[in-house]
Amino acid sequence: MQIAIDGPASAGKSTVAKIIAQQLNFIYIDTGAMYRAATVIAMRRNLDLDDEDAIVAALNEAGISFKIIDGQQHVLLGQEDVTTEIRTPEVSANVSQVSALPKIREKLVALQRELAGQNNVIMDGRDIGTTVLPDAELKIFLVASARSRAQRRVLDLQQRGIKSDKTVEEIEADIAARDYKDSHREISPLKKADDAIEVDTTEMGIEEVVETIIKLIKEKS
Ligand code: C5P
Repeated sequence: MQIAIDGPASAGKSTVAKIIAQQLNFIYIDTGAMYRAATVIAMRRNLDLDDEDAIVAALNEAGISFKIIDGQQHVLLGQEDVTTEIRTPEVSANVSQVSALPKIREKLVALQRELAGQNNVIMDGRDIGTTVLPDAELKIFLVASARSRAQRRVLDLQQRGIKSDKTVEEIEADIAARDYKDSHREISPLKKADDAIEVDTTEMGIEEVVETIIKLIKEKS
């Protein structure tokens, strides 16, 4: 079974996808982490963030992989664990530029489909239901108000030990800017698939979102 969870930044996609994957023994694939890792490598090497050939070459050379350590998904660039680094505000600010590049998307979408393979997977991102897994049995589009997403982002950064001097208003503006870029790019923009079910999590706790999605999965299986 394939489950696609898409939606704007900080709507809770990865938090609920991780819990559901654990409960149902599905493989969880965080596609945002891949675009973030591509951004890290481009920034480290001082590549022009529009130079898709240079970034693809750097990615091919380093290699992106995932590893489960103590039940948590880690992202590796070559042998190096970049799980924390991919979440920094600097990477968040640049990732939409890198993820809009056609050759980057082509490479990472192929990798995502390969990772999904014939497994039971739950995959989160922006274009999973529309592009990566168009035949997914269940497609969820998670949304929440901009303010509640900004508040969640602040908590998330704190929990990950990532320092940020920004106010919640500034974080809300950053999130809105990223959503705008992700929704207006030419290739596979952030968009609800026609057959996706929209779940608004503004007033919901994590457990309630998880229960809602698990109920929908059971209806499909
Ligand atoms: O999910 P996360 O917020 O970590 O994603 C980071 C960025 O990666 C998004 O803002 C978007 O630019 C890009 N992305 C994408 N397609 C996906 C997943 C993420 O373009 N399937």
